[in-house]
Amino acid sequence: VSAPLSLWLKETEFAPWAAARTETVDVLVVGAGLAGLAVARALVANGRSVRVLDRGLPGHGASGRNAGFVLATHVTSYPAMRRAIGPERARALLSLAHRNGALVAEKYGAAAQHRRTGSLMLGVAGDASEKAVLTEARSMLLEDGVRTDWADVPSGLAGFDVALRIEDDAEVHPGRLVAALGSGVEGAMGEVLAIEDDVAILTTGERITFATAVLATNAWTSALAPQLKVSPQRAQMLSTTPAPIFLPAPCYAGFGYEYFRQRQDGRVLLGGLRAQFRTSEGTTDAKPTEAVQEAIESYLRAHLLGAKGTQIEHRWAGTMGFSEDGLPLLGELSPRVQVIGGFTGHGLGTALACAEVLGRSLCGTATAEDRALLSALAPTRTPATFGTH
Ligand SMILES: Cc1cc2nc3c(=O)[nH]c(=O)nc-3n(C[C@H](O)[C@H](O)[C@H](O)COP(=O)(O)OP(=O)(O)OC[C@H]3O[C@@H](n4cnc5c(N)ncnc54)[C@H](O)[C@@H]3O)c2cc1C
Repeated sequence: VSAPLSLWLKETEFAPWAAARTETVDVLVVGAGLAGLAVARALVANGRSVRVLDRGLPGHGASGRNAGFVLATHVTSYPAMRRAIGPERARALLSLAHRNGALVAEKYGAAAQHRRTGSLMLGVAGDASEKAVLTEARSMLLEDGVRTDWADVPSGLAGFDVALRIEDDAEVHPGRLVAALGSGVEGAMGEVLAIEDDVAILTTGERITFATAVLATNAWTSALAPQLKVSPQRAQMLSTTPAPIFLPAPCYAGFGYEYFRQRQDGRVLLGGLRAQFRTSEGTTDAKPTEAVQEAIESYLRAHLLGAKGTQIEHRWAGTMGFSEDGLPLLGELSPRVQVIGGFTGHGLGTALACAEVLGRSLCGTATAEDRALLSALAPTRTPATFGTH
């Protein structure tokens, strides 16, 4: 049984690519999620010829199955991350996310139904430790130039007693974003079994010879590059029939484990509850399970009172790729192979800007800022030890 499509993918048309054939290319990008497609576009804009390869349709990995939040950072992880990597590098990542947000809005905003709504990080009622982290995150983020302040918990929600608003965060339609990124990109359908020197060997036996390969394979990266530790984590979501609008912005709660938003058409989307099911969710199988879906539905009924009376319309899952320290992997793995991935559940917040950095690096036009980032995010780095989820 193949995995059910997300609400987004059901609403998005992708023209299927032809099957991959043996050929020689300049740059081979493996993976047609938002990272691979954005890298391809960045390289083509710099005059390189690029072939993108995916075993499925574009965006059918995590990129077309997510919640569509474009966030500056994972708020509750920010204090620990900043302590582990230092304020300078933490600020460099915020500035990367800021550039990413501008890219999404300016280049793809209209196509991807981008809305600068801000986001709300909600504190679960009675959880003093979460409140302490939110308070610390607020002061650090303000110091680091992120516009943030306490806000009211939206009426229509129950069980939360504080809300931290991040002003410049946004939401998109992820399917439409992938479709816009993919338009005009030269792609082919095929699964890479292994990469040996300058050749990608496909499961069909076809062979693609390249000058440079870019692994944009996120949760599946370790299969092609076992020296990199990117762990698959399934995340599940559901969406409801339309309800009167009660959520003004995408919301995160419970240290970011739960997330929900309401579309302009009234449909409510909710995902998370992964923390209670750690063993079963460490998989690349993108099929929703009864146990997690039940937990999500109970959460919906207990906390999102504004969705009262709605029915569940869609249920889906996707696979995130978690790096060891929660930061993306970006740059050179070996002289012929580059990596972009390990977005740890937050690719919409940085992948497009990461792709531009990689594009400049591969075209010999990297800035000093790019080089600092490539050093901080080098795939072969020793992971910082602060741990995110
Ligand atoms: C339910 C859910 C909710 C999420 N919510 C958010 C959110 O609100 N905000 C946010 O920022 N992030 C969110 N994320 C994470 C976000 O979706 C990812 O970080 C992002 O999509 C990663 O993009 P990518 O291009 O790196 O990976 P993917 O989109 O997963 O693309 C990787 C591609 O590589 C292909 N591939 C892998 N191996 C091979 C191979 N050997 N040969 C050929 N093709 C291969 C796959 O088929 C896939 O298409 C969520 C994820 C999920 C699952």
